[in-house]
Order: sequence, then structure tokens, then C-alpha cells
Amino acid sequence: MSAERVDERFDHPSLRPPGQVIELARTLQRAGFATWCVGGAVRDALLGLAHLDWDLATAATPAEVRKTFRRTIPVGIEFGTVGVLDQHGVMHEVTTFRRDVHTDGRHAVVEFGASLDEDLARRDFTINAIAYDPIEKVLHDPFRGREDLAAGIVRAVGVPDDRMREDRLRALRAIRFASRFGFRIEDGTWAAIVASAPHLTRLSPERVKQELDKTMEQVAHPSQAFRRWRDSGAFAALVPALRSVSDTTLASVDRLPRPGQVTRPLRRMLRTAALFSALDGKTAEQALRALRASNQEIMVVGTLVDRWQRFGDSLTAAFATGELPDDPALRRLAAEIGRLRVNAFLRLGAAQWGGNPHIPPALVRALFRRLMRIAFRDPIEIADLAVDGDDLRQHGIPAGPALGRTLQLLRQAVIEDPARNTRDVLLEMARTAATDGSGVPAR
Ligand code: ATP
Ligand code: MG
Repeated sequence: MSAERVDERFDHPSLRPPGQVIELARTLQRAGFATWCVGGAVRDALLGLAHLDWDLATAATPAEVRKTFRRTIPVGIEFGTVGVLDQHGVMHEVTTFRRDVHTDGRHAVVEFGASLDEDLARRDFTINAIAYDPIEKVLHDPFRGREDLAAGIVRAVGVPDDRMREDRLRALRAIRFASRFGFRIEDGTWAAIVASAPHLTRLSPERVKQELDKTMEQVAHPSQAFRRWRDSGAFAALVPALRSVSDTTLASVDRLPRPGQVTRPLRRMLRTAALFSALDGKTAEQALRALRASNQEIMVVGTLVDRWQRFGDSLTAAFATGELPDDPALRRLAAEIGRLRVNAFLRLGAAQWGGNPHIPPALVRALFRRLMRIAFRDPIEIADLAVDGDDLRQHGIPAGPALGRTLQLLRQAVIEDPARNTRDVLLEMARTAATDGSGVPAR
């Protein structure tokens, strides 16, 4: 390959790293060390997308980088990465050119003293292996990543099978990048991903979960990614419960809130709940536990999936009749879901119903309004009752299981008819229940 093909002067407004990054590169270059912008920021800039972290790769060793700058942090020194603080205290990552000396599918042992080309050759995909010198304004692109960017192709650097074997995570990264940018995966690279799938079990659950989360966060239509997880066999290896997840279920993930409508963690959890929505709650919880999800996420997603499995169908059936359930039925539903989870449940439901052409969106919106109003206006929990345990004890109901049962009976009574939620009515009901064991009118 001739030098002209690889190096090209490139001065374009999209390729303007922040001034602080240019300054760092200038300082290192003046000290005699070749220094380039590399990786995701160069790729995204060439695509016209914003990218916050501009990584630098340099010929300087980590020790030389630390000597060159006043304030540094050894963020990943064994891999050659030093964090350099600019005068505003913002950290920029500077990584020494490396080559791999040993790989085992999970970890790499690297050595320094490599050239820029060697450093680019160990990167995963051609679109991620483009370097830019922000001082000379030169692009260095030995693997023709720009052609693949323009054509919309994710292609492994070098021999795809070898690259996937060196690091199994690359299979999942290829899928994420392709889905995020709407690219296709080059045939040889896809074949290597499929061949890699059975070996993905070598990855730690934490890394797999991280990829899943990044996909939920970065990819506008995660169904495109998860269809590939399914079709490549990645789900079969990593999340067997999702090995044959349906296109309908995957499409519901795409219909969950746009960024900004809800907080990022909630959006991620809602999308995760949609992904697991065709399973029963326990299976979803087990799958998430195996992926080392946080207890909070396991609880939220597991509960949402469980409630969707229990109540989704009957709501779908009600929509088909064109009529929503009556108020007592909606109160029972809100009570089963839990007041603070009703909103998330409805969002999950809306994502499912949105794919059903027989369900009028206006009816879904009406359910949203009525169920939310009911959940926050009507008494549906024991804490909403006009009496509490102390009141009942003072009126002769002994503490213990009987008291708990009575409170539950009163709760059911006010769910059926909120007008009963007064002290006098409830105490009267509690006394009757205590004497004849009933006391609560039938529905
Ligand atoms: P993102 O926007 O997701 O951060 P990115 O391209 O910046 O995308 P990073 O994970 O931050 O991805 O990695 C930065 C760069 O390091 C990549 O662009 C790629 O050149 C290289 N790289 C990262 N992970 C690998 C890997 N597993 N194998 C080879 N190269 C990798
Ligand atoms: Mg990055």
C-alpha cells in the first residue's frame, strides 16, 4: 500500500478535537513522540456525530507520558493508559502504542515499543482503526476504515476468525456498532461471529451485561442488535432463555421511551423488561442474576415482567372489546402492580400494544390516564386506609396475624368501593369481621 493511500491531509470542521486535546498532542509531539487521535472519536467525527472522549495514542511510554505532564493519573498503566489532567481538571486518556504478545479470548498481554501501524492492527474493526494527527491534520487509515464508514460496513481488521478468537467480546462489539450506525456486517466477519458464539461463555457475566447495557443505551433500535444476538447464537450461549426471542418481542424494545423522556437507568430497565417480557418473572430474574445485574434491577425488571405476564393478556383482551375495565377492576390492577410501578408497567404495556394494529392508540392513552389517576387518587394500599393497626387494637382486635388479615380485608373492601374508606365504616367492618369471620361485603 503506498503512503499516499494511507495518509491523507484532512482538514474538515467535523474533525476538530477539543483545544485541550490538541494541546496535549502538541506537547507530546514537541517532546519527540508521535501522537495521534484514535478510536471512537475519530470514527464518530467522520460520521458527523459528536463524541466526548478523544483518546490519544502515542509513541511515548507511560513513564514518559507521566514525566511530560504535571498532573497525571495511572488509570490503566499495565495496558499503557495514563490519564492526563488539563488545566480545568478534565482527564484525557493517553495510551502508548501497543502490540499483543498473548491473548486468550478474554485478556490480552501487551507490550510497548510498537509502531502506530502495529497499534492500529490490534484494533477490532476497520472503522475503529483510523488515526488522525490533529497538528498536521493528517488521517492515517491503513485498513481503509473510511471506505467502510462510507459504505456502512463493520469489518474486522485482519483475519476475522483470528480476531474473534483473540477476544470474544469483539463479536458483541461488532453487533453493537453495526446496529448503532445502521451498518451491515461484512460476510467474513459475520461468519466469524457465528463461529465465535459457542465460545462466548468464556466472557465474564459482567462484561456481557455491560455490552447488553451499552446496547440498550447507545442503539436507537436495539431490536437490530438483539436479532443478531439471537441469529448468531450469542443468546443461546449467553442468555439461553432468550435463544428464540420473537421479532414481536424485540420490536417492543424499540418502542420504549426516547432519551430524555425518562431517566437513563429507568429507560434501560424498561428496555430490559421488554426484552424479557415474554418470559415468566422468575425466569427473567434468574437470567438477570446470572448476568450479575444489580439487586435493584433484578427486582424492578422481574416485577414488571411478572405483572405483564399476569395482567397483560386480560388488558389486551379488554382493548379488543373496545372497552376498558371498570374502576374497581382498575383499582385491583393498580393494587397488584403497586402504585409506584404503575407508570413503568403502562410504558411496558404501551410498547407491546403499540405493535398491535387492532388496538387503538387512543384506548391505550385512556387506560394510561385512568389507571394513573386511580393509582394515585384512590385507596389501594393498607397505608391508605382511614384506620391503622393501633386503631384496630384499641377496638379489641388482638395484635398478630388476625390484625394483618383484617387490614387486608379492609383494603379489599375500599378497593371495591373507596366510599368505605372512613374511620366509622372501617371500624364497624373490622368488628363484624372479628365476630363472624366475614365482615367484608362481596364484590
Ligand atoms: P464507544 O462509543 O462505544 O465508546 P469506542 O470505539 O470509543 O466506542 P471503546 O470501547 O471506547 O470504543 O474503545 C476505544 C477504541 O479501542 C476502539 O475504537 C478500538 O479501536 C479499540 N478497542 C476497544 N476494544 C477493543 C477490543 N476488544 N479489541 C480491539 N480493539 C478494541
Ligand atoms: Mg469510547
